[in-house]
Amino acid sequence: MKITYIGHSGFLVELERMALLFDYYQGEIPDVPGGKELYVFSSHSHGDHFAPEIFQLAERYSKVCYVLSDDIPEERVPKACREQTVFLKPGLTWEDGRIEVETLKSTDEGVAFLVQAEGEVIYHAGDLNYWYWEGEGDDWNQKVEKDFKRFIEPLRGKAIDAAFIPLDPRQEKDYKLGLDYFLDLTETKRIYPMHCWEEYSIIDRWLSEHPDSPYRDRIVKICRRGEEFQQEA
Ligand SMILES: [Zn+2]
Repeated sequence: MKITYIGHSGFLVELERMALLFDYYQGEIPDVPGGKELYVFSSHSHGDHFAPEIFQLAERYSKVCYVLSDDIPEERVPKACREQTVFLKPGLTWEDGRIEVETLKSTDEGVAFLVQAEGEVIYHAGDLNYWYWEGEGDDWNQKVEKDFKRFIEPLRGKAIDAAFIPLDPRQEKDYKLGLDYFLDLTETKRIYPMHCWEEYSIIDRWLSEHPDSPYRDRIVKICRRGEEFQQEA
């Protein structure tokens, strides 16, 4: 599969017969080769994960399906696109015969997506993360820790081909809590760090702080918007 980093948490995943667009909010969406079905995912309504521009894709391409978290209000979907839109709650499985999508509850708003398509397993975390903020009280941080571990538990031992996981520099020294937990929890081949606010040095920081980690080779070093990655099966 080919993976293009668009910006922040936005990625385009191209498979043989379809393409999956995740959490687009700005930047350039690569052209999707004609005939491929396009699935457009938004994990929640926040401005850095959802933008109404995604609905213009329905004018450009003939086969588009929108898979949105149900915290996104229906009114934000143009009437012309509603028939090709599904709204998913956390904790369910939806499928249409070509792809299967499982949703996990987020520790922020909305959902994370676990997608199975053409034999590939792809996970996009949205804002499901082990958020830890120095400025919040212990009670708040402990609750998020508990929620994170509970919400992500369905992924334990799961074989995942590509995972998009937050690595957020705003968390300062606690930036790695969610990624480290995820690496131990799952069997993931390739991790694409995201939600970096374009500070890609955070990926180097993780690598330099984990010199002996058995997972080092799994971390994809993203350097710029529009970067493409060919991932072999
Ligand atoms: Zn976000």
